[in-house]
Amino acid sequence: MRFDDSKIEEIKSRVDIVELASEYLTLKKAGRNYLGLCPFHQEKTPSFTVNREKQIFYCFGCGEGGNVITLLMKIANKSFPEAIKHLAQKTGVVLPVRTFGKDGREKESLHDEIVHLNLRAAQHFARNLSSPAGKIARDYLQKRAVTEETVKQFRLGYTPDTWRSLTDDIEGGGLSLKLAEQAGLVIAGKEGGYYDRFRGRLIFPIENIFGEIVAFGGRILEAGEPKYLNSPETPVYTKGKNLYGLNKAKDAIRQSGFCLMVEGYFDALSLWNAGVRNVVATLGTALTRDHLELLRRYTQNVVALFDPDAAGLKALDRSLELFLGANMHARALILPEGCDPDDYIKKYGREKLDELIAVAPAISDYYIDNVLGDGKTFEENRDLVKTAMEFINKINNEIEKNLFIKRIAEKLGIDQTLLKREVHRKATYGQTGVAVRKESSKIKMNPLEFNLIRLMLEYPQKTLLVESEKILDYFLEPALKRLGEKIIENYKLLGYVDINVILPSDEDKPLRESIYKLSMEAPPTDDHMVERNFADNIQRIREKWYKEQKRLIQLQLRQAQESGNGELTRELTCQKQNVMKEEKEYVQKQ
Ligand SMILES: [Zn+2]
Repeated sequence: MRFDDSKIEEIKSRVDIVELASEYLTLKKAGRNYLGLCPFHQEKTPSFTVNREKQIFYCFGCGEGGNVITLLMKIANKSFPEAIKHLAQKTGVVLPVRTFGKDGREKESLHDEIVHLNLRAAQHFARNLSSPAGKIARDYLQKRAVTEETVKQFRLGYTPDTWRSLTDDIEGGGLSLKLAEQAGLVIAGKEGGYYDRFRGRLIFPIENIFGEIVAFGGRILEAGEPKYLNSPETPVYTKGKNLYGLNKAKDAIRQSGFCLMVEGYFDALSLWNAGVRNVVATLGTALTRDHLELLRRYTQNVVALFDPDAAGLKALDRSLELFLGANMHARALILPEGCDPDDYIKKYGREKLDELIAVAPAISDYYIDNVLGDGKTFEENRDLVKTAMEFINKINNEIEKNLFIKRIAEKLGIDQTLLKREVHRKATYGQTGVAVRKESSKIKMNPLEFNLIRLMLEYPQKTLLVESEKILDYFLEPALKRLGEKIIENYKLLGYVDINVILPSDEDKPLRESIYKLSMEAPPTDDHMVERNFADNIQRIREKWYKEQKRLIQLQLRQAQESGNGELTRELTCQKQNVMKEEKEYVQKQ
């Protein structure tokens, strides 16, 4: 569900963050700010800071921060739409009734149109499932003991092995097949016309966290390939950015304090069917950073299911790196050889699974014990040290890093200080990956760019202006540029920006802190001033960029002239003229 930006601003202007926070904790005035004991971490002296002028909060202890909306989301476990509705009611802001076009139909964006069409397709698939033709699929579900209720909750469906079942339905309803093609539901034939993408399959609608159907997965029911077929990427669906079942599981995840992560639809479905509700599936793709960013809003604790075979260990290795990078606590659930979650829960029941989950080791421990193993010969040990060092270098957090060094040294029977020195040497001499992951703590504080990032975080509704001006292309600091891109991407995806999702790791804390310090110190402004601030900042970044380009070209030019390289001199002179021309045009436009 999307909301009008102006309505969100109206809501924000009518609620007071100090009052809202005071509903949940006790605040005392301290200078310009209000201080209290942080609700997000255990503490004895208050470091939870609320600033009334800027309507923001930040905890200098744990690094949680945000505005009145993200505060409510975090403190009352609400989703973004829930928080907006709650605050709208509280402040008496009326959320707009959707607008209607000339033909009396709701006016929709492409996103809404595709989601609408997907819903219609899901209804078509569901009707098929309960029709006589759907017997084969119903038999299959019955064989796997999937209940009626689960079928309804997950809106399962069926599509017969014919070419135009859905195509005819869409056409018959007077809907656009071109749009259906964009939605990935139908495929354009070589000789014109369209045909169904999904044929002879059990259908799993894939929902986003708002409960909108964004894609479909289909499992073949008779012989044929592939066994599982997914929607292609569409304007509403990007692979690796959705977790199957998250919309349904999110409340259970919050309540239980962790998320059980499996691979396939059926794994998630059968666990849900057996009463395990805090379960999501990665949809058959490998785990991604985006998955974790999505999940991190509900919990930091994950129990991930892995196969005990070589492929499973490889997946575990990859996931471990991502979990460490996102600062999440992951444990590895390994089922007995050859058992998938469906088999396991049917054979041993829910309680046995809960027992396994309760004793699941931290992924890092499992990795040390099972992947590093214990080498017998000197040669084997030497290889293991190499693997171990690569592993240690993936760890962001210094305390955890030292802990691992200790454990690995013990495991391999080598001297801790030696291993430490070796790790340090590797890290300093350009181990790939490490430098990149650590960059945020080392960001050079280009003040203009930093200030624009701060403004984007404080006034996310203005980020689209930053995008349309393409100002990020004029950033000199690549890390700040990437941060800016992430803010825009998050805002477009979710309608709000949560700094703790954008900068999740402990390494990012200094940066988060300086952003909030700057925000709290900057004087409050009205909307008109905010716009001027953005415009000024954008202009000055452009000017600085031109200055820097000219300086760099001049430097190269001097070198080229000194070494008598005529061709390069001409080329650089031309470059310089181009930059100056662009600058002149830009200045004239201002
Ligand atoms: Zn805190």
